[in-house]
Amino acid sequence: MNTRRIRCLWFWSNVVIVVFFSACVSTGSNTPEDRDLLNYNHDLLMGLLWQQNSGEYSALCYQAFNAGERYVASLPSWENKAIVFDIDETVLDNSKYAAWMVVTGNPWGNDTWTAWCNAREADAVPGSLDFARYLMERGIEIFYVSNRPASTTESTVKNLQNLGFPLADREHVFLQEDTSDKNPRLERIRALGYDIALFAGDSLEDFDSATRRWTNQERRNWADSEIESFGVYRIVLPNAVYGTFESAIVPNYYGLSPGEKARARLEKIKAWNP
Ligand SMILES: [Mg+2]
Repeated sequence: MNTRRIRCLWFWSNVVIVVFFSACVSTGSNTPEDRDLLNYNHDLLMGLLWQQNSGEYSALCYQAFNAGERYVASLPSWENKAIVFDIDETVLDNSKYAAWMVVTGNPWGNDTWTAWCNAREADAVPGSLDFARYLMERGIEIFYVSNRPASTTESTVKNLQNLGFPLADREHVFLQEDTSDKNPRLERIRALGYDIALFAGDSLEDFDSATRRWTNQERRNWADSEIESFGVYRIVLPNAVYGTFESAIVPNYYGLSPGEKARARLEKIKAWNP
């Protein structure tokens, strides 16, 4: 083999290596399925940026809890009254877990979500701690009702306690045991003699468990029919990163591949067509 041929071979072999590694670096992975997952997770980015950085996110949280304070102050009596908080994105901010999905390309999973809960690193949602203390000072009972797995009860209680939330103990924190339907847990609270005066949550199912199985149109219709309750005895926290609205876009959403989910999302937006 002459020198010219050797140089030519050396040049093209380097081109192949550079192209190969560039492709790996630009996608972070090699398979179409992995690239679909990265793109799918990347859809969370703007919502996360907004939740973690914007003053508007904090302002909306303050608006919700201010409305709650006004409603509680208007009640003729606080005797035997209880307030029910959802936990995730209502009092605890889990945006770092979703950000981990974006930067690593990992999907949401029971095992990693449980590990996040057990890490006890969630921050408080803006305004939630002040509202909880406001209730405590008035002798109003607080219950935290969440669909976090019951196996994370100790860690969830500790996370809430470390942030200073009142009544954060096993008698007031009800996580998911057998069903995601919160009604049986709400009945347990009522059976203790409490009148639930207000619900705080970031998802419609925190206010009515039936909405979990509905389409987005049905969920919107329900919100329209309950318009008088929001900012009164139901206070709604903002969450643009995740929620049942996502799985409600098409039937069997969670049975789809990441690529199919990403396409289903695109097909549901209403675009200008000039
Ligand atoms: Mg929630």
